[in-house]
Amino acid sequence: MRVAVFSTKPYDEEFLRKAGEGGVHELRFLEPRLNRDTAALAAGCGAVCAFVNDDLGADVLAALAGQGVRLIALRSAGFNHVDLRAAARLGLTVARVPGYSPYSVAEHCAALVLALNRKIHRSYNRVREHNFALNGLLGFDLHGRTVGVVGTGKIGVCFTRIMVGFGCRVLAYDPYPSESARAAGAEYTSMERLLAESHIVSLHCPLTPETFHLIDREQIERMRPGVMLVNTSRGALVDTAAVIDGLKSGRIGYLGLDVYEEEADLFFEDLSDQVLGDDVFARLGTFPNVLITGHQAFFTAEALANIAATTLENLTAFESGEAGPNLIALDDA
Ligand code: NAD
Repeated sequence: MRVAVFSTKPYDEEFLRKAGEGGVHELRFLEPRLNRDTAALAAGCGAVCAFVNDDLGADVLAALAGQGVRLIALRSAGFNHVDLRAAARLGLTVARVPGYSPYSVAEHCAALVLALNRKIHRSYNRVREHNFALNGLLGFDLHGRTVGVVGTGKIGVCFTRIMVGFGCRVLAYDPYPSESARAAGAEYTSMERLLAESHIVSLHCPLTPETFHLIDREQIERMRPGVMLVNTSRGALVDTAAVIDGLKSGRIGYLGLDVYEEEADLFFEDLSDQVLGDDVFARLGTFPNVLITGHQAFFTAEALANIAATTLENLTAFESGEAGPNLIALDDA
């Protein structure tokens, strides 16, 4: 099958080429992000391979279907950016990579926790300037602290194991509690108690209409003063304006983000010689207790190899008429 691979970066091409060696699919690597203006680049392709900031809204899907595209193969686990109703109406099949390396995201999340706590981002800069003073770098022992894990799927369970390994107590909230999270050491509780008792709150649930701005002003008020909030899931789980007010008041003592509500126009690109137009993002960057990475939690060699392999399996399964295990149903919306 001919496949238009949007938002291609050199690493995507490298891993997809390696996984597809000797295979039957013809991959057309395209650098632009998928949107209304670029959808025409998929002309002649039966499938589109898309990433997290590609536009898969109703208009774009209609344009793709009109050109003969029949499959949307996501290179991601999250599918909040796909209008599944429109896809179903247009007869488009949508496949994803549900799990490729929960370790990659959970370990990055732990890296944010450690760096924020011990202020590694600040000490790195100080030492480069031969400033060896420790004032302002005081951390706390993770051992004995309470970590709130919101969403105990693959990544939440993996993160739970890591934090239990540090000697933390893990409180968890998930509408669908799992035995594997309990086995990893999590104690399920209400969202209210999790927020009230946790020194660190980490988000690992998907972005859905129900979880949009899950962390808003009200929830921030419920948190422990000086809490560390970490979001490696999806930006819009958090009301960024409310979080900025929480940082200003001191209610939030540390913020770690790998995702941002308005990341689509920023992340994955080198914008270092441009004027930043996003004042909210710019404000976040002014806090000494905020650490932001640009949606890189998934970015390990193992994860990229698994994403590429599963994506090719999804293409092959679709072409041979199999339902395959990774199709997204309309009920998943
Ligand atoms: P998963 O489907 O295995 O687990 C998600 C869990 O969230 C499920 O147990 C589900 O019951 C739970 N959940 C649903 N609604 C909830 C709610 N309102 N409150 C609490 N929990 C809720 O998914 P996963 O593989 O663990 O991934 C989690 C999220 O991580 C993805 O949805 C994606 O947005 C994000 N992610 C980010 C990156 C990155 O690079 N930053 C990479 C992969 C995934």
